[in-house]
Amino acid sequence: MIIAIDGPAGSGKSTTAKAIAHKLGLKFIDTGAMYRAITLKFIQSDVDLSDIDKLKKILGETRIDFKESEDQLSVYMDGVDVTESIRSKEVTELVSQVSVIPEVRNALVPVQRKLAEGEDVVAEGRDIGTVVFPEAELKIFMVASETERAKRRLKEMQEKRIKIDYEEVQESIKMRDTIDSTRVHSPLTKAPDAVEVDTTNLTFEEQVNLIITLYKSRAAVNFKG
Ligand code: C5P
Repeated sequence: MIIAIDGPAGSGKSTTAKAIAHKLGLKFIDTGAMYRAITLKFIQSDVDLSDIDKLKKILGETRIDFKESEDQLSVYMDGVDVTESIRSKEVTELVSQVSVIPEVRNALVPVQRKLAEGEDVVAEGRDIGTVVFPEAELKIFMVASETERAKRRLKEMQEKRIKIDYEEVQESIKMRDTIDSTRVHSPLTKAPDAVEVDTTNLTFEEQVNLIITLYKSRAAVNFKG
């Protein structure tokens, strides 16, 4: 069973997917963290993003792993814990430009599929229901108003002690949404069979419970055949 959760930045995908995985005992795949990790590697390597051969070489040499514990999903790049550093302003500003590059997507999508092999998973990102797992039994397209998304992101970043103000967060979200939804390869878009969930006026508990209810009704239908 695969639950695919897609949607724009700050719509609540990550926290919701994590809670659902915990409650239902599913494996959680945070694909955004993978695009962030490779962006961090490109920054560290000081590579020019137009040098495709160099990017391919780096992609071939880089290892990204996840470690799940009670309530935390840690991300490792080449054995180093990068859970915090992939959320930096620098990475956030560049990640959408990296995610546009077809070679990057061609390298990461097979890894995402491999992680799901033989497992029940909840995966979140931008192209999960459309490209990575088009066969997913439940597809959610999570949205929220721009103001609400910026407020949530600001709170998250302040909790991580990242210095940023509301206008900067709003600008950064707008820029990422535009690049993510207008790119040629695997743009952010709602799959025709996805259920749209607007979380603007939902509490966290409500959004988690809503998706769990949808999951249980889908699972019951599948069980009946
Ligand atoms: O979900 P998160 O905000 O961490 O994702 C960071 C960026 O990674 C997105 O803005 C997008 O550019 C890229 N991404 C993507 N495809 C995915 C997941 C994330 O292009 N499946």
